[in-house]
Amino acid sequence: MKPAPFRYADPGTLDEALAVLSDEGAGAKVLAGGQSLLPLLSMRLAAPATLVDINRVPGLDTVETTGDGVTVGALVRHNQLLHDGAAARVQPLLARATANVAHPAIRNRGTTVGSIAHADPSGEMTSVLALTDGSVSVASPDGVETVGWRDFFVGPLETSVHGPAVVTSAFFPALPARSGTAFAEVARRKGDYAVCGAGVVVTLDADRRVERVRASYVSVGLTPEVHDLTDAVVGSPVDKADWAGAGELARSLVDPDTDIHASADYRRLLVGVLTERTLASAAAEAAGGFE
Ligand SMILES: Cc1cc2nc3c(=O)[nH]c(=O)nc-3n(C[C@H](O)[C@H](O)[C@H](O)COP(=O)(O)OP(=O)(O)OC[C@H]3O[C@@H](n4cnc5c(N)ncnc54)[C@H](O)[C@@H]3O)c2cc1C
Repeated sequence: MKPAPFRYADPGTLDEALAVLSDEGAGAKVLAGGQSLLPLLSMRLAAPATLVDINRVPGLDTVETTGDGVTVGALVRHNQLLHDGAAARVQPLLARATANVAHPAIRNRGTTVGSIAHADPSGEMTSVLALTDGSVSVASPDGVETVGWRDFFVGPLETSVHGPAVVTSAFFPALPARSGTAFAEVARRKGDYAVCGAGVVVTLDADRRVERVRASYVSVGLTPEVHDLTDAVVGSPVDKADWAGAGELARSLVDPDTDIHASADYRRLLVGVLTERTLASAAAEAAGGFE
């Protein structure tokens, strides 16, 4: 199928983009990498009156890394973030999760921020924004606002941003000290959306005992969720922690759906298995930081 007819605008500045979005009203949509929006148009699952292509807007294509975290501009492609060594050092989950996003051709064009703005519960980067306790910057004719992930994701494919607005960047806080991370997923074919994915952060105290454990999942739940699994392992020496017990706890906390790809029971099973594996790996990484 072909998309329904639409008007196309390619403004050269952010102000112009916001002006077009204001003028066009509810029928206008931002176009970034087009890797989610264009398939929806082609299948006629969406029929916006106007596409506002932000690809000519300057200043949105950089990754800025400081000791506090990583700011990813709205036109940074998945592939650019995947290969950004400085960003990976400050927040390793970025590269680890991005490596699981789609196929190289899609990663060359699709944007990390577009993935977050799309708010797909099967997307890796929505989950990572939540797990890192991140936020987005949203520009509207009223100014720029920072919105934390809990307030941003309100439902599957739905965010709290309405009206004329462009998400200009996403901020991922730095990994805390004495911490390790891991990310793993199960997909039917490499590059497919995950049947289930898990990202974890393990933080140790100064005596190499487990202090804090958090996990977030992909394709589990309607919006990103972060689960605190600390109770299952708190105070354990890192090499003796009961990661299987943490996996059991995770299984009891999630509420996955059944769909054409997998049953809820299978997803819950995967949550347990992936949690146990990723926690062991993240803990080993955190312990390695002491050597
Ligand atoms: C075959 C295939 C497999 C894929 N597999 C995966 C996968 O495994 N994991 C995964 O996470 N993704 C996957 N994707 C999606 C891909 O990652 C997209 O790139 C991403 O979801 C959307 O980014 P985009 O820049 O292409 O956004 P677009 O398609 O341009 O836009 C998507 C939506 O977000 C809005 N939007 C985009 N940018 C902004 C912005 N800056 N401000 C406000 N609104 C904005 C648009 O209006 C639109 O509603 C896959 C896509 C395909 C076609």
